[in-house]
Amino acid sequence: MLEWPFFEDRHREFAAFAREHLPEADGDLDERCRGLVHALASDGWLQHAVGEPLDVRTLCLARETLARHDGLADFAFAMQGLGSGPISLFGSEDQRARYLPAVRSGDKIAAFALSEPDAGSDVAAMTTRASGGRLTGTKTWISNGGIADFYTVFAREDAGISAFVVEASEVEIAERIDVIAPHPLARLVFDDTPAEPLGPPGAGMKIALSTLDVFRSTVGAAALGFARRALDEALGRVTARELFGAPMAELPLVQAKLAEMALGIDASALLVYRAAWTKDVAGGRVTREAAMAKLHATETAQRVVDDAVQLFGGLGVTVGSVVERLYREVRALRIYEGASEVQQLIIGRAALTAHRDDARSPA
Ligand SMILES: Cc1cc2nc3c(=O)[nH]c(=O)nc-3n(C[C@H](O)[C@H](O)[C@H](O)COP(=O)(O)OP(=O)(O)OC[C@H]3O[C@@H](n4cnc5c(N)ncnc54)[C@H](O)[C@@H]3O)c2cc1C
Repeated sequence: MLEWPFFEDRHREFAAFAREHLPEADGDLDERCRGLVHALASDGWLQHAVGEPLDVRTLCLARETLARHDGLADFAFAMQGLGSGPISLFGSEDQRARYLPAVRSGDKIAAFALSEPDAGSDVAAMTTRASGGRLTGTKTWISNGGIADFYTVFAREDAGISAFVVEASEVEIAERIDVIAPHPLARLVFDDTPAEPLGPPGAGMKIALSTLDVFRSTVGAAALGFARRALDEALGRVTARELFGAPMAELPLVQAKLAEMALGIDASALLVYRAAWTKDVAGGRVTREAAMAKLHATETAQRVVDDAVQLFGGLGVTVGSVVERLYREVRALRIYEGASEVQQLIIGRAALTAHRDDARSPA
């Protein structure tokens, strides 16, 4: 893959570095997460997650490599990028100086707070209010909630939806949420909470969507990493396991499954790195390409992981096996940063717009 024209020598060098510097950390969930952030900082990964310009191909290579190794390491990397992304892209010089070096060095943990109990897919239904630099409302499903040092928060004010930075010391953690692939996640309550404006009033949707435009393809890259690990595990199993007196890998139906897995992975990689290359090289919005990358890679990874579980038989559903862990880890990717149905709508609308534009343009 690294020989594809999407990549430059610096990407090939980064991929080699990444394979040699896989982070490890121990402890309970929060300690592991903090430990992973520090390991990612001290090994130099985080300099690629933070700042301007963000190189989407490097972000994707990082997430693919980390997810293949450990989903929580990928999470820790991705959240430093997503949580600080609005500051990287729209922060004032002073905000960039106060937050970005600390996120890069792992001294500050970042979070991105957009979703609310009644405003997930329908972001415009947001009810958190901003007035006179203070926020009131509830955000939920916030990754890094409870361990973050600051939150980039979106709230409605007279000018429309605006973005803010809120220090963690001002935020009430109303609930920690347990999910099937554990990572820090919380519901946050703002009660006349002081907040610092980020970007112009009313620019919040543009800030959120521009940030997602960068990071959505990287969710596809993480899915790709999970799928590659599932295929690695499946190949190891089918070549070691004897079935009906011969290696399982010799059964035609097993080979057909492996073929579908490998094909899905390559197609996902092409879409992910096409979207990343387009953002890096052509610039501007890549909403359609990022939606295709996320939709295809996450849906495919779910199938590939499920196939790997099937090839492992009973061992595949044993708690603690790698494929069982992947089965839990891959699921949420089809829901967050825009559920698959939201990506389908984006792609469908883009196809209709292109069709209308073609019909209008002179032959
Ligand atoms: C593990 C995890 C981490 C998260 N981290 C963050 C975070 O850090 N920051 C943050 O702000 N949010 C975060 N989220 C929230 C996430 O973005 C929302 O869960 C997501 O946008 C879906 O919103 P919802 O859960 O309210 O589901 P709903 O909006 O209620 O949607 C339910 C389902 O409806 C379907 N659907 C949606 N739109 C359509 C449509 N137009 N037509 C047909 N069907 C549709 C989809 O299948 C969707 O899953 C996280 C979520 C999870 C699970």
